[in-house]
Amino acid sequence: MRYCKKCLEPDTRPDCIFDNQGVCLPCRYAESLDDIDWQSRRCELDDIVAWGRRHTKSQYDCIIGVSGGKDSHRQALYARDELGMNPLLVSCTYPPEQQTERGAHNLANLCRLGFDVVQVSPAPERWRQLMRFGILTFANWCKSTEMALYSSVPRAAIAYQTPLIFLGENPALSWGSAGGSLDGDANRMKYNNTLKGGDLTPYFEAGMRDADLFWYRYPTDAEMERAGLRLVYLGYYIRDFNDFRNAEIAMLNGMQARTGADALPQEMGQVNTFDALDDDFVAVNQMLKFIKLGFGKVSEQCSGAIRNGEMTREEALRLTHLYDGKVGARIIRRFCQYINVTEEEFWTVVERFRNQDLFERVPGQNDWRLKHPPT
Ligand SMILES: [Zn+2]
Repeated sequence: MRYCKKCLEPDTRPDCIFDNQGVCLPCRYAESLDDIDWQSRRCELDDIVAWGRRHTKSQYDCIIGVSGGKDSHRQALYARDELGMNPLLVSCTYPPEQQTERGAHNLANLCRLGFDVVQVSPAPERWRQLMRFGILTFANWCKSTEMALYSSVPRAAIAYQTPLIFLGENPALSWGSAGGSLDGDANRMKYNNTLKGGDLTPYFEAGMRDADLFWYRYPTDAEMERAGLRLVYLGYYIRDFNDFRNAEIAMLNGMQARTGADALPQEMGQVNTFDALDDDFVAVNQMLKFIKLGFGKVSEQCSGAIRNGEMTREEALRLTHLYDGKVGARIIRRFCQYINVTEEEFWTVVERFRNQDLFERVPGQNDWRLKHPPT
């Protein structure tokens, strides 16, 4: 395992990009921000806005997928207040057992701020079965839910005949996960590592029928072309579109961050209090990512903080060593109850997926550690 010379980005992230000096793409992009011609990007964005207005057949001129978090708030406010647009917000909402109170508050806050929000709620029992299948098969419960979160947005754009879709950041530039482009064009984002072109084959093997999976199925290229969809990373056009600034603006506008026990890094496996506000089970998946790829959310958040000048590399190393891949026992317990597996079964799955190329036993202890932790 090797790490970026500047941040803590590891080379085990699928599709990561490092230059020949051992520096990751997000660090290089962050360095280049001052040299970018933002005025010309704004002109490009103005053309996109005009395109959205020209091509809509509804009263809305763009669609924004939202969870109610910091990026949702920033995008919605920017589109309306800075670009003068009339966005329709689309939210694929977690079932009640999964959505946090805070998540419900934050989504309601977008309504309070004056936006129209369409909520999509895929059938909860199927949602749960797909999560259960995901954890037992891939040690990843998010695969199906991410399909739904991403697919419901272009589905709604087609249904409401509003072809311009804004997404937040370009994942390649923000966290080094190739997203099909290195600019504002997001039309090929379904071919990234998460969505894999919208392939649902594994779920048919899980006994699902085509008709069960409408909200999980990303539109085909032909459907997208027929509807004239245009997907754009809004964050690419905004100089200060980053986690910290977005959170600041969102909180000034009423978004609630994590507090108390829900913000403890040893419980949540994250050090930022403004990420993943609507769901606690995400900490389980970050732990599993750590088991498989050797890094979790803490190292990602710390890398972002280094790039943004919010944290030294020394502090990032300290927090990552302490908390990366951690998750509280109460979250594991609730998760196991929700997907109906015993904790023993759960830990058997976890250990089956542990990457033994990356981990070694701690001598004299029933524990594992990274062979090559970041230094
Ligand atoms: Zn880096």
